Amino acid sequence: MKKYSDFRSDTVTRPTENMKKAMAEAVVGDDVMGDDPTVQKLESLAAEIMGKEAGLYVPSGTMGNSIAVKVWTRELDEVIVEERCHFYNMESTSITFISRVNPRPLPSDRGAMDPGLVERNVKKPSVHFPRTSVICVENTHNNWSGSVVPMENLKAIREVADRHEVKIHFDGARIFNASHASGIPVKEYAAIGDSVMFCLSKGLSAPVGSMLTGPQDFIDYARRVRKALGGGMRQVGVLAAPGIVALTEMTDRLKEDHVRAKRLALGIAEMPGIELDPEHIDTNIIIFGISHPRISPLEFVAELKENGILASTPPGGIRLVTHKDIDDEDVDKAISVFRRILTN
Ligand SMILES: *Cc1c(COP(=O)(O)O)cnc(C)c1O
Repeated sequence: MKKYSDFRSDTVTRPTENMKKAMAEAVVGDDVMGDDPTVQKLESLAAEIMGKEAGLYVPSGTMGNSIAVKVWTRELDEVIVEERCHFYNMESTSITFISRVNPRPLPSDRGAMDPGLVERNVKKPSVHFPRTSVICVENTHNNWSGSVVPMENLKAIREVADRHEVKIHFDGARIFNASHASGIPVKEYAAIGDSVMFCLSKGLSAPVGSMLTGPQDFIDYARRVRKALGGGMRQVGVLAAPGIVALTEMTDRLKEDHVRAKRLALGIAEMPGIELDPEHIDTNIIIFGISHPRISPLEFVAELKENGILASTPPGGIRLVTHKDIDDEDVDKAISVFRRILTN
């Protein structure tokens, strides 16, 4: 048996054999000069899947989100974000660092912001106030335990944006997980956003990279911003090639991850000290609290590690993520390790 079952994130997924083969055989050019055919193929495939005019390969989801907000804003603008969203909390203040705009965090019901509250926070510019230029939505919502934000909510926020001529940037790092969990086609989710970012490097198992998609003029300017941020990469077809495999071969299996996460959540929810409602587990992320008479959260995570289970510790919780390289045996092992530690 392997030494560690790595539940820290779906970013730890290793490339498949087909991905390694695609990397070895990739036809490359200089993508900064615009002639890497493998990158071009990936970019048009991503755009087609999202129903957008154009796509841009970026080194990370963080850079994709940063570029989108940079393109959609000017200084003295404001961006509405959900208060637990990845972009605002886990991307090293890139909103202010790169775009020099003000984030306006709003509360939500498991990632779904109240459209009325969003509307009341949309500002017209004045001598006092910034102009609201973008609303960011995230689906699935990482820090809400991988929740699927309901389509009616997203549509209501889209209506607010249309009424006030504000853009929507859709952080769809796990948009395929949302689609598989809800049965709603990816294109329908993508239609909510003027721009959509999604990750190839998470459950889809490519080693590196994310895609930014949107209208052609948006992507043209985004390409210039990417270069300015140092994200122009030369013969990057070697990394785009496994991205193509990710999009053509790896989306359907995400539902297996959801089934395993649900089973894991049901298996641990009733154990002493675990604060988790398994009903809330829609996809592949389980975030739970722990209040145990004998063991602190950090001690618990250290003890999990000693027993071969790796978990991560986002603010306020412990996180387990299922993915391609977690199988049923890993889930069984995690449940029995939890039981041993908590009921001893
Ligand atoms: C992981 C993630 C990102 C950023 O992706 P990186 O490639 O790690 O920079 C953005 N948004 C969400 C919701 C994520 O989970």
